Amino acid sequence: MLRGTFQLMKSVNKTAILNKIRLAGPISRADIAKETGITPPTVSTIVKELMAENLVAESRLGKSKGGRKPTLLLLKEDGSYVIGVDAGSKTIKAIVSDLVGHVLARAEVEIYPHSTNEAFLEQMTAVIRTVLSEIADQCEKVLGIGVAMHGVVEIESGISLYSSKTGLRNVPIKETLEAAFDLPVTVENNSRAMAIGEYWFGDYGYIQRFSVINIGRGVGSGLIVNDKLCYGAQDLTGEIGHVSISLDGDVCSCGNRGCFETFVSGDAIVKRAKKMIQDAPDDLTAEKVYAFAKEGKTDYIHVLEETGKLIGIGIINLVHTVNPDQIVLGGGVMKSADFLMPQIQQTIRERALTEKAKAETKVVISKIGDDATVLGAAALLLTELFY
Ligand SMILES: [Zn+2]
Repeated sequence: MLRGTFQLMKSVNKTAILNKIRLAGPISRADIAKETGITPPTVSTIVKELMAENLVAESRLGKSKGGRKPTLLLLKEDGSYVIGVDAGSKTIKAIVSDLVGHVLARAEVEIYPHSTNEAFLEQMTAVIRTVLSEIADQCEKVLGIGVAMHGVVEIESGISLYSSKTGLRNVPIKETLEAAFDLPVTVENNSRAMAIGEYWFGDYGYIQRFSVINIGRGVGSGLIVNDKLCYGAQDLTGEIGHVSISLDGDVCSCGNRGCFETFVSGDAIVKRAKKMIQDAPDDLTAEKVYAFAKEGKTDYIHVLEETGKLIGIGIINLVHTVNPDQIVLGGGVMKSADFLMPQIQQTIRERALTEKAKAETKVVISKIGDDATVLGAAALLLTELFY
């Protein structure tokens, strides 16, 4: 598919019908018309177009309400593919996904230490070529490339402005990949992409205000309201990792002091453990803290419980600023959820302003886990197609 065809293909009715089939399929043409308010002849015409574009397929016959059995429509899962790329602080992952999040091919490379913009883009291009080579005979089905990039991203230009963990600045991701592959490319912050991945493939149904917090080496979040990602005036919506928790706390990767990230990231957990436990090993990692806690070592359990309380504080700040209906927690740190969650829930019960918020603030662990961000990157293209 050539660049720019998304816009040509789209119309309000087409988007509504495609989304109805995605969310409610298998569904008959008659039910689509009834539920969307679009006239039956228009539904038939648009469905014909969607079938010609390989996005929708006819499936089995439905139940007859008297007369002929209606043919049901479904998304044509393998009719089109999208590429998702997750550029974290240490690795670049790429996948090829179909329209419903089945992964057909995957590859991963470690980012060179002290990388340059050119070397980083070369690695990203190479890892995309690797996954494309695995579906060599079906490359024409690929609709485009979505990139989830750690750090601050300028959405329109697709430039990674600043990535604190790699130290890279002003990386022209969109321009480079579009030139290399002649496909549309969308670049997004990794936590926002994770929110899309979780919302799109996590099977939650429609949630009006949906938030995902990604807690790992850094901390970020994504907020989806009425099916759409929120950005804010300077693309900073969701930078919860840099909400100030303490005026004179530790220096954060962003340069400020006392950010939420400095209390709950993987590194923060290690630092806390070394402070709280005298005989903590020098080569301690957040993974080891969890392993020791699982072995029943009470000192390490306390470290995670303390971390859970602090994550709860960050969540309360989010509840009291945007008040989401649902908060999903993911990222490496949340692998210790069994020790963190009770404290998180308790902090919310203690600090939420109203009884209703105490009782009804829904906080759950990611359903998709490690693939949420890379699938979300792939879904960035789909959101353009479907909304
Ligand atoms: Zn910060």
